[in-house]
Amino acid sequence: MLRMAFLSDIGRVRTVNEDRVLVQDQPDGWSLAIVADGMGGHQAGDIASTMAIEWIPQALQPLDAHLSGEQRGQRLRAAIESANEKIFEIASERENYHGMGTTVVAVLANGQSAVIAHIGDSRAYRIHAGQIEQLTQDHSLVNELVKSGQISREEAEHHPRRNVLTRALGTEPTIEVDVQEISWQPGDMLLLCSDGLSGLVEPQRILHTAMGGGGLEEKVRRLVDEALAAGGDDNITVVLMANDAQHRGPEPNGEAG
Ligand code: MG
Repeated sequence: MLRMAFLSDIGRVRTVNEDRVLVQDQPDGWSLAIVADGMGGHQAGDIASTMAIEWIPQALQPLDAHLSGEQRGQRLRAAIESANEKIFEIASERENYHGMGTTVVAVLANGQSAVIAHIGDSRAYRIHAGQIEQLTQDHSLVNELVKSGQISREEAEHHPRRNVLTRALGTEPTIEVDVQEISWQPGDMLLLCSDGLSGLVEPQRILHTAMGGGGLEEKVRRLVDEALAAGGDDNITVVLMANDAQHRGPEPNGEAG
């Protein structure tokens, strides 16, 4: 069994919440979660992120229960590419929507494995054995500058152009989506978020809150509150996915599992 909780908050500064989130159990027993952080003037970012969370789940159907992880990854990639075509088409047709786009981080998971796809700077983290690991590499200008050694990680956090993305959904006719398959275990958690959380709350702080007491909903609420307390300068969206899957095989007391 997977348990999921999510929350999206407008933050303290913005007048519109252009983040979108979708959490959905699939008919084949897998669970889908998507965070999309829209961008573009005249509320066009809103349109782009809404289209992403509406179109990707549709384009994924039907999902065959017997697909391998690799095949699921291919399907998720194709669904995101298809959403890109839709958004780019509308952005090209209407002047108000020119240049609109959105980030996407999407997870398709069951109790054994998770397929993660992303474009832009919304992130996925895995929490395992008391450690937090960032699974996605931001497609952002500052991350490129960090990787090439031109600026430090600390400088990146306060860089004036830290919102500039090198890849996004909807801004180009074709895109490159990063897809990976990971294994995870009972007791592990996956966290998806927009930069409204990751830009203001340190990974160690996220870990502490995710590992702390309370239910999943409470933890998500607390994470959003921490971003608000740190300034809340952007929309904040968080999804927590907990792996509660039981190990296969007989229970220690001899009852069927
Ligand atoms: Mg944002």
